[in-house]
Amino acid sequence: MTKTTFAVIAATAMLFAACTKAPTTNFSFESSDLFFEIADSLSQNQKVAEETWARLFDTKGYKTLCDDDEMNDVRRAAELVFAPNKKAELDSILNAPYDSDDDVDLKMKILVRNYVNLQSHFDDAKKFRTSYDFGKVKTKATKIVHDFLPSPVDSLLTFPNIEFFCYARDASNCGSCIIFDFNYFYLYPQGCIESMAHEMFHNYRYNFTNDDIIYSEPLLIVLDHLQDEGIADLINKKGSENTAKNLTELEYPELYEQKYLKALNNSSKLLAELESLTFQNLDGELSDDDYKKQVYNLFPFHGHPVGYKITQLFIKHGLRDQMMETFYNPVEFIKLYNSIAESEGMYVFSDRFVSHIEQLFTKPQPAE
Ligand SMILES: [Zn+2]
Repeated sequence: MTKTTFAVIAATAMLFAACTKAPTTNFSFESSDLFFEIADSLSQNQKVAEETWARLFDTKGYKTLCDDDEMNDVRRAAELVFAPNKKAELDSILNAPYDSDDDVDLKMKILVRNYVNLQSHFDDAKKFRTSYDFGKVKTKATKIVHDFLPSPVDSLLTFPNIEFFCYARDASNCGSCIIFDFNYFYLYPQGCIESMAHEMFHNYRYNFTNDDIIYSEPLLIVLDHLQDEGIADLINKKGSENTAKNLTELEYPELYEQKYLKALNNSSKLLAELESLTFQNLDGELSDDDYKKQVYNLFPFHGHPVGYKITQLFIKHGLRDQMMETFYNPVEFIKLYNSIAESEGMYVFSDRFVSHIEQLFTKPQPAE
């Protein structure tokens, strides 16, 4: 099955842009270039043809990541920000509360803020597009992940295709490519190169994971996310507190930062809850559907805050080598966690839980 990882990735540092034009193999600007053209037309009060919008949403970046509602948001946000005659409506969105998870327009508000930011340096961003040395990005990102992995690193480590589009400040791994917001890269090239290394780790790891087994069990999926994101975050994050703070610096609503910190501070409780839900399900007190729903919603941000907390503890306890030897096996991840949990005052999984996940991980698969 296709695995998609939507990760909120925080950048931390800027690098001065090089001034030579280099080959841009692996990089596609199809979506962002057309978005720039449209933004130019809107800025000059020109009407954008329906056919042009359709072409934009048929480019790989938008087509892969956005559903119809999200495409409508992109169009509405671009018109509000770039067309000069929409200022009153734009101001009303920017002045509206930006702090509720129930807000149906929250995605739209995030988009609008990113486009306003892009517009504030639009000419420079367009120059950056043609002058930045994207060729070096590949070399740098590959070196980062190569140095991170245990040696020898085999030829399965590859640099993915990068699609640039204009959306929220984020990067998404779509399996065959990584889709980056152009403005995000413009603002934080070095942080984004490290994000690419993070995504390359995911892609590399996929070569070793046993997906048929993992993706047949909600519990293994959740543990897999904790392991995958926790290890990958060691590549590009600068500590949990900074990661949370960066969400607000990237102009996400403050509630994202609060949500991240809440999960971080409740890591032990959440892990205990995972075991408790699992036993309720095994003991017939919780239906499979309810179990699935609850465990999928247990760890916010795709498992980042809790997974990263665990992997930082591994580093603290000198367990990096053991963590990397089994980086594709979520059951070994939990066993390694259990070896240090008590000394950290964290929840220790019971023998019953560990036996259960061992059994899930080794169960025979039905013949195709
Ligand atoms: Zn990730």
